[in-house]
This record gives sequence, C-alpha cells and structure tokens, in this order.
Amino acid sequence: MDDAGSVVVLTGAGVSAESGVPTFRGEDGLWRNFRAEELATPGAFARDAKLVWEWYQWRRELVAACKPNPGHEFIARLEREHRGDFLLVTQNVDGLHRLAGSSKLVEVHGDIWQVRCTSCGSSREDRTLPFPELPPKCDGCGGLLRPGVVWFGEALPEEAIGRAFAAANSCDLMLVVGTSAVVYPVAYLPELAKDAGAYVIEVNPDETPLTPRADESWRGKAGEVLGGLL
Ligand code: NAD
Ligand code: ZN
Repeated sequence: MDDAGSVVVLTGAGVSAESGVPTFRGEDGLWRNFRAEELATPGAFARDAKLVWEWYQWRRELVAACKPNPGHEFIARLEREHRGDFLLVTQNVDGLHRLAGSSKLVEVHGDIWQVRCTSCGSSREDRTLPFPELPPKCDGCGGLLRPGVVWFGEALPEEAIGRAFAAANSCDLMLVVGTSAVVYPVAYLPELAKDAGAYVIEVNPDETPLTPRADESWRGKAGEVLGGLL
C-alpha cells in the first residue's frame, strides 16, 4: 500500500460499529421504534424539534462513551506513514477518527458535536450533555439550535464534498470501509475513483452495491481486518 501515490480512505458507520456506535441500517438502528430516515430530516425537525433533539441527545451520550477501535487506528497510522497524498473522507458524525489521530479528513455529513442556530446561522462546537432544556437555544439570539449534521434530503457542504470528489478523481488507491455505498452523493466516490483508474479495496462483512466493481473485497469487520494489519 505504501507505494501508492495518492490514497483516499472512505468510511461509513460500519467503521464505528465495533466501537459501539450503531449503524442506521443494522439491527440496532432503531430508537423508540423510529428509523433514522424518520428523524434525520428537515421535515421531522420542523414537526417536532424536541423529539429530534431527544434522539440526538441519546446518540451524543452513546458516542461520548465510545472509543476509537483498531480500524480507526489503522487509518490514522496510514495517514502518518504514507508519503504521498492522503485524504480520509468520512460519512460519520461521531468524531472517532479525530480521536484516533486522523487530521487529513473531511466530515462530509458534519459533526454531532457541532450545533448551528437556525435563526442567525452561527455554528460552534458544543459538548453540553445533557442540555438543560430541549430543544436548546442559541446564546446569541435565542433562536432554535439544530445539530451540525447533514440530514437526508439536504445538500452536503460544498467545500467538503468538493475536496472529496477532487481527491477521489485523482487517487491511485481507495480503501472503502464500512459503508453500504447507497447514500448519494458519497456513493459516487468509489465509482469516480474506478473510472479514473484507481485500485479500489472494500472492507465490509457484507456484500454491497460496490462489491462487483471493487478490485478486492476484504470480508470482515473493520477493526479485525484492519487491526490485523497494524
Ligand atoms: P452505512 O450506509 O455507512 O452502512 C453501514 C455499513 O457498515 C454496512 O454496509 C454494513 O455491512 C457495514 N458494517 C457493519 N459492521 C461493520 C464492521 N464491524 N466493519 C465494517 N463494516 C461494517 O451507514 P448507515 O448506518 O446505513 O447510515 C447512513 C448514513 O448515516 C451515513 O452517512 C452514515 O455514516 C451515517 N451514520 C453515521 C454514524 C456515525 O457517525 N458513527 C452512525 C450511523 C449512521
Ligand atoms: Zn442565533
């Protein structure tokens, strides 16, 4: 892997599964019988901001108790030791890659520890847990705060997704870890890399829509498969 000039690693919820963060589509994906697709949307927030915040508060509590696993650690080490270009593109909002030491990363779906005011638009890190009242309000203007994440049906932050597409389009090797490769536009990234001639390796216990196009599929859990390479 070391002689590959430019490396992109793309991760999804699966890389954090062994840390104890549930994926959306897995068996543990339900909360009070709601599916993520029913809560992580602008419509759900408009209807019932308190309910959506209760779910995010539950997820923040869950994530706060989790630690990076050998999968995150392998990816951080690859960044440190690789001499060519490197970029980690993650769909995860849990911050575990940064905790593991990754720094060349784009979080294309945002960060669960960020909040953004729906009135004045200001954005900041806020690790308050639990919030004294839900939904939380903006210190500056009293407006309603929302989680600093991208919801289903929302556009991705342009700068972040632009960097991800540029890197995918010019990489020599792409490692795709723990993503079902069905959430667009991120699911285009491995296709773009393949079209541009990159070697694509998938790490996932299950087959995904990407499997037929991947050059190699390493079947197994990220922490076990990548941890074995540490
Ligand atoms: P996803 O689409 O990334 O799918 C999860 C994938 O991980 C599946 O293909 C599954 O087979 C695989 N997987 C399960 N356990 C694994 C393991 N131990 N090692 C490697 N792969 C494993 O994610 P989703 O849950 O369908 O969610 C869709 C969107 O929501 C994505 O943006 C996702 O990142 C986000 N999300 C983020 C978090 C987080 O921040 N940790 C958690 C849930 C969902
Ligand atoms: Zn405000």
